[in-house]
This record gives sequence, structure tokens and C-alpha cells, in this order.
Amino acid sequence: MPTFPLTGGCLCGAVRFEVDRPLVTANYCHCTRCQRRTGTAASAQALIEPGSLRLVRGEDVVRAFRPPDGWAKLFCPECGSALFSQSQVDTAQMTIRMSAFDGDPGVRPEARYHVATAAVWEPIPDDGLPRHEGGRT
Ligand SMILES: [Zn+2]
Ligand SMILES: [Zn+2]
Repeated sequence: MPTFPLTGGCLCGAVRFEVDRPLVTANYCHCTRCQRRTGTAASAQALIEPGSLRLVRGEDVVRAFRPPDGWAKLFCPECGSALFSQSQVDTAQMTIRMSAFDGDPGVRPEARYHVATAAVWEPIPDDGLPRHEGGRT
């Protein structure tokens, strides 16, 4: 088990965060939006228990891309690191990009979402995880 709080941050260090309770679950998102903003074929992300994430540094630095029809995408404008997603309906609902953690976040991806739009240039690994055509419901 990891020790709490979990710690993490962006590439340049302008944004640092802590999570003081275990993460709820994790998944891969293969949607086009995640591919564009992370530069990868899929975004690995962990869902937090509402209220467990605290920005230690850079609260005034973090910027957000807010699509009208989906979760806000929070990032560091200094280095471009993708950091969090936030529900536009309930802002306490957030995910953290798993690569932003310093150490073991204690959860592993348990499903793959938006596989209908998966990148053509990287086959989806045959890892036995449930695959969903669309998003989480
Ligand atoms: Zn940064
Ligand atoms: Zn996505």
C-alpha cells in the first residue's frame, strides 16, 4: 500500500498536489480529446474521492480547457503537463493523470473507455481489461 498523502505535480514543478485518501479507481481513456492533450494513444487516469485532492503549490497557475460537452481539462501552462479532469456538473468529481504522481498511486487501470476512437497507430493491448465503446456512465 502507498503512504498518504500521495504526492505529485507537473513537469516543471510549478504545480504540486497531495491526495490524502485512497483513489477510487483508474482507467484508460482512448478518446480523441485525451490523445490530443496528452500526446499519447490513451490517458491513464485515477478517480479521486471527492475532497481528497489539495493543491500544495500553483493553484493560481493551473489553467483549464473547458469543452461545453465534457469534463474540464486542467493543465500547467508553464510546461504543458496534463494534470486533472473535473466534472462540469459536480466540480468535486475529479481525476488525476496517473503519470503526475511521484510514486505508486496504489490503483491500476481497471477498464478502457472510448475504444471506438482508439488511435489507429497503436493497437489496444490484449490485457484482458473490459473495453467500452464510449465513456463512463
Ligand atoms: Zn508545470
Ligand atoms: Zn478521454
